Amino acid sequence: MNYRGRFAPSPTGPLHVGSLVSALASWLDARAHGGTWLVRVEDIDGPRTVPGAAQDILATLERFGMRADEPPVWQSTRIARYQEALEQLKAAGFVYPCGCTRKEIADSLLHAHARNTTLAYPGTCRNGLHGKPARAWRLRVPDGEAAVVGFEDRWQGKQTQNLATEVGDFVLRRADDQWAYQLAVVVDDADAGITHIVRGADLLDSTARQICLQRCLGVPTPRYLHVPVVTNEQGEKLSKQTGATALDCQEPLQALMAAARHLGLNLEETSGSGLAPTTLDDFYAAATAAWSKKIRLST
Ligand code: GLU
Repeated sequence: MNYRGRFAPSPTGPLHVGSLVSALASWLDARAHGGTWLVRVEDIDGPRTVPGAAQDILATLERFGMRADEPPVWQSTRIARYQEALEQLKAAGFVYPCGCTRKEIADSLLHAHARNTTLAYPGTCRNGLHGKPARAWRLRVPDGEAAVVGFEDRWQGKQTQNLATEVGDFVLRRADDQWAYQLAVVVDDADAGITHIVRGADLLDSTARQICLQRCLGVPTPRYLHVPVVTNEQGEKLSKQTGATALDCQEPLQALMAAARHLGLNLEETSGSGLAPTTLDDFYAAATAAWSKKIRLST
């Protein structure tokens, strides 16, 4: 099998314990399959991107011994491809312009909530803009049974989501002229020939949308594995906003051991000696063996 995996950090701050877990899991899965591991910098969300954070993340990965097998891809260099994909979707009638403002959407969701009906975008602009200027582009999600997208997650098990009732027509090109994560990630993974996606479970909810988009664009659906996210004491996903601190680059082994523990990998047992690894090479050998034992590898 020609396994190709990736780690796709958003440069919103330095690598922290939470993002290290995703990086490590994707790295181990690629190694366990004898595959290729890539890094993609998701730097197109202008307002959230922190200057210097991408270089910092790449240097930390290097320092921690996770070297990408090909040069990193920067989303900011790939805008023309996102535009092409949108044009393809327009030509096929899968997308429509939306003129709703945030306030209008919030109001309709509030009404829906009061009526106890769907919280999905109600599709106000599906049949035309009614004189409003176009602000965003949305994907027309399928109706009826076709709206139900299912997949087998290699960690979380069987997943299904009804895109029509749980999500609604979702945005691909935002009103603030930014490309939506959902479109960029699908185009990039397809162009890079990614066969396996390993990432944090906070993105589980996005996967059905991405599979739907893959079908509309006629590209293959990779296998998915979502690892549990690291939370703080309040149970919130660790991020810069919830107080995650940068990793201590002086102690890569300690941070990696903690990340492996979070993934439920018992390195002492796998190494056979009952001892914790003392070098990065030993760590990666033991962690890859422990991962292969714990996770069912794809054939
Ligand atoms: N850039 C996303 C994040 O940092 C991850 C995207 C992905 O793995 O699909 O949350």
